[in-house]
Amino acid sequence: MTVYLVGAGPGDPGLLTARALELIAAADVIVYDRLIPSSALDGARPDATLIYAGKEGGGPSMSQAEIDAALVSRGSSGAMVVRLKGGDPFVFGRGGEEAEVLREAGVAFEVVPGVTAGVAGPAYAGIPVTHRDAASAVAFVTGHEDPSKASGSALDWGALAAFPGTLVFYMGVRQLPAIASALVAGGRDPSEPAAVVERGTLPEQRVVTGTLATIASVAADAGVRAPALVVVGAVAGLRDRLQWFEARPLAGLTVAVTRARAQASGLASRLADLGAAVVEAPAIRIVPLDGPPPSVSEYDLVCLTSPNGVRLLFSRLAAAGLDARALAGARVAAIGPGTAAALRSHGVIADVVPEQFVAEGLVDALAGTPVRRALVARAAEARDVLVDALRERGAEVDVVALYETVAEPLDDAQLAAVAGADYVTFTSSSTVRFFLQSAGRGSGWRPRARLVSIGPVTSATLREHGLEPDVEASRHDIDGLIEALVADAGSRS
Ligand code: SAH
Repeated sequence: MTVYLVGAGPGDPGLLTARALELIAAADVIVYDRLIPSSALDGARPDATLIYAGKEGGGPSMSQAEIDAALVSRGSSGAMVVRLKGGDPFVFGRGGEEAEVLREAGVAFEVVPGVTAGVAGPAYAGIPVTHRDAASAVAFVTGHEDPSKASGSALDWGALAAFPGTLVFYMGVRQLPAIASALVAGGRDPSEPAAVVERGTLPEQRVVTGTLATIASVAADAGVRAPALVVVGAVAGLRDRLQWFEARPLAGLTVAVTRARAQASGLASRLADLGAAVVEAPAIRIVPLDGPPPSVSEYDLVCLTSPNGVRLLFSRLAAAGLDARALAGARVAAIGPGTAAALRSHGVIADVVPEQFVAEGLVDALAGTPVRRALVARAAEARDVLVDALRERGAEVDVVALYETVAEPLDDAQLAAVAGADYVTFTSSSTVRFFLQSAGRGSGWRPRARLVSIGPVTSATLREHGLEPDVEASRHDIDGLIEALVADAGSRS
């Protein structure tokens, strides 16, 4: 079988290529390095063998000879092997050497290039590595070597100093003082702009700038550490005008998401797009309850109070060979736009969606709707506001419990990450209750983070636990929550 030498990009999971994701999903064996995006293996098969090879800056947990041997033996065994490396496999990744070993052993291989850190890190720092006016060439250089070592250096520092374009050093943090002085000694202008990009493309990206003369001390003062890139050249001066990463509304902020894992990804990816570092701390889990499909055709009103309810109602209908037509005779009410969107994805357009996305809002919105028999499809434990109000109006109301919300235990690492967050988002009362339970926190706990609540019901639950929400969405859905969080962050920066 084939061994795929695959680049995973510099850290932002969005910079994994389509081909890399496809191969990760199909692989029997994945041999991966340290500097790959933390979520890169999320799409691997549950039964895939994952082998951590360390490397790239960290102490190797496997020697190169061991890695080579593993690739050859796994590759010859008929397994589909992905060798996953940070950035591009052929740029300071020893991918070339591994390819040679495979060729030598007669094992077929393919190469999947990745986005290399030396281009992407500067780009996320607002530094184009070439520019019509500022640099017509770029050199990628290893900064691993000590330039002051008289013998044994593979680099010609005089030639590098004279290079007519941008110099990008990988692995150069430790040697930065020596690199800068070797370039100046070789005749490079000490006033030339320079920048160091630490953890480029990741939410915690940090960039320091100076000149060739000052950059080593600037980086040392800031405590810059690997992985980082050193950029020397006029282009480094463009950052002042072109920086964009730090300008995003939630840049530099860590936001914790407590909703169920299955729902968290949409919120998490939108927060990440706005620049936040997202901590996923799912405090709840949705457990579907078994049961026959409700006879929806017997009702003139069917109320859905969450996207989960919609999904599970339709799966019960489907299990009985039914589809959206079962709802043909009834009016359908959704508590909010998320629930309405879930209905739409099943081919049903909600007749009623309130302006306030809470049960009280739905009661108001139904004021003019004649109701004889109503079905409320929802979670097992839920407020009875809607059911009571419909009964008060003389309707016969049945409730079908489609799922249960249960606590999802959080581990110490997750809790520590939440403790360090700037914001913690709560999208329902159950996220509040179960998060506090999982965190082992009773009333009176005061987290460092600002607490963001989706609406008045969730806020009331926070207050019951002695916590005052710092931000409450005025529109009680995910869009509204994000809007309120961004406005709060903007007003505080
Ligand atoms: N094959 C990789 C490079 C491996 S060498 C690629 O093509 O990107 C490891 C070096 O890459 C690190 O020491 C650092 O200089 C650089 N590097 C990798 N990821 C980085 C990141 N996210 N930010 C800054 N530098 C990074």
